[in-house]
Amino acid sequence: MTTIADRLAVAQSRIAQAAQKCARLPHSIRLLAVSKTKPMEDIIAAYDAGQRCFGENYVQEGVTKIEALKATHPDIEWHFIGPLQSNKTALVAQHFDWMHTLSREKIAQRLNEQRPAHLAPLNVCIQINISDEDTKSGIDAEQMLPLADSISQLPHLQLRGLMAIPSATNDIAQQTRELSELKQLFDTLKQHYPAVDTLSMGMSNDLDVAVECGSTMVRIGSAIFGERDYGAKETTRN
Ligand SMILES: *Cc1c(COP(=O)(O)O)cnc(C)c1O
Repeated sequence: MTTIADRLAVAQSRIAQAAQKCARLPHSIRLLAVSKTKPMEDIIAAYDAGQRCFGENYVQEGVTKIEALKATHPDIEWHFIGPLQSNKTALVAQHFDWMHTLSREKIAQRLNEQRPAHLAPLNVCIQINISDEDTKSGIDAEQMLPLADSISQLPHLQLRGLMAIPSATNDIAQQTRELSELKQLFDTLKQHYPAVDTLSMGMSNDLDVAVECGSTMVRIGSAIFGERDYGAKETTRN
């Protein structure tokens, strides 16, 4: 049986190989382990294998894990990567280090107001809708700079970059088209905001293409922790 440590090593070598193919440094790409729906033991197994950044999609599930692990594992960096309703912003502001799915000014303002003063600014990425499917969240490309301008004026938020969830497809040409579009937007954003350094794209099925298209942070769940069983957790989510 393969362990979480084995699969983490495989994910890391996929990143390294993809980086090598396009002459990038493997260390310029961070691996975010997406632990949504997975038990605490799985997070600890990944931690023991050296993993320090974890991503969660559901506010309450994430906060429960953060609270349970903060005394024993204080160096974990927690990333919120799910959709966020305005009535849950305080929990994200109080507990997480990063928030990847910012797409509304109102949410930005609430997170800024609710970020406790003793914590470092909350690192945020703007979520862009680059997929062909109209069900996906995120803003259109034209709205990126206006939202970035609002965020840049909020002292308790630090704009770090962009995030997107591309169309669920195995068509490499389409993956490449969408991810390259996001990279171009990222370059534009960086010209306006030099502190921007994070392009959050790439999941288990498009990791390699994402690295070739310039990702600096890949979000990998099932390739590390195995397939998710949503049925069992339906009632405790969000
Ligand atoms: C679940 C999820 C991931 C991880 O997806 P896998 O296909 O399991 O690697 C990455 N990003 C977001 C936003 C997710 O919701």
